[in-house]
Amino acid sequence: MTTQIKVENLHKYFGDLEVLKGINVEISKGEVVCVIGPSGSGKSTLLRCINRLEEATDGKISVDGEMITAADANINKIRMHIGMVFQQFNLFPHLSVKANIMMAPLELKLKTKEEAEKKALELLKRVGLSEKANAMPRQLSGGQQQRVAIARALAMEPDIMLFDEPTSALDPEMVGEVLSVMKELAAMGMTMVVVTHEMGFARDAADRVLFMDEGIIMEEAPPEEMFTNPKNSRTKEFLHKVL
Ligand code: ADP
Ligand code: MG
Repeated sequence: MTTQIKVENLHKYFGDLEVLKGINVEISKGEVVCVIGPSGSGKSTLLRCINRLEEATDGKISVDGEMITAADANINKIRMHIGMVFQQFNLFPHLSVKANIMMAPLELKLKTKEEAEKKALELLKRVGLSEKANAMPRQLSGGQQQRVAIARALAMEPDIMLFDEPTSALDPEMVGEVLSVMKELAAMGMTMVVVTHEMGFARDAADRVLFMDEGIIMEEAPPEEMFTNPKNSRTKEFLHKVL
């Protein structure tokens, strides 16, 4: 197994508040890791440190052997390889679905307009929204918008996808369509780190589940073990509330 993401002794402070208190985790290429834990435990901050939306206060993170926490790391290059999907889809409201997906590769001059369009249509097909290419975001349901947001991230052809509670803002009936797109991605071998409250997804799709609490990884295990036989009392308490 090739290590793709390596987090060593990661600490993050916001002012005096220590939000990450020494995170150590290695994620292999193609691995799907779900991160669970109570609100405020540092899950989003961990994800955001991995693509440098937040600066680590201390510790190291390497991606594909490159030290992304180094002062001279090329942040734009890092982000090109790491796609991120947020709870709020943040599509550009004034651009069509297709234009949203084409935008980043065009702005960065990675593709010609024809290539970007071809890729966008291919991705829309993959997320089941071929017929919405020319629609505007406001004409789509939340679930459809989130699938477009996933397609938009994939347009950069990332090696890693980070998801921060991608279904938390959705009406319940739309959760499934987004999770099924994510499951497909996982099955295609994408390296994924997914912060989620969807324990069913974690059970089905994760290779490993991390339980975070108060800025540390309290427990990690394959899903069947985590959900049937958690060891840590905090994990038990959390799972008791959410399952
Ligand atoms: P989670 O995603 O597990 O809910 P977060 O990583 O969002 O947790 O937040 C962890 C802690 O860090 C919380 O106490 C939160 O209020 C705090 N925090 C997050 N972002 C910031 C910020 N930009 N400035 C100050 N405090 C923050
Ligand atoms: Mg969060």
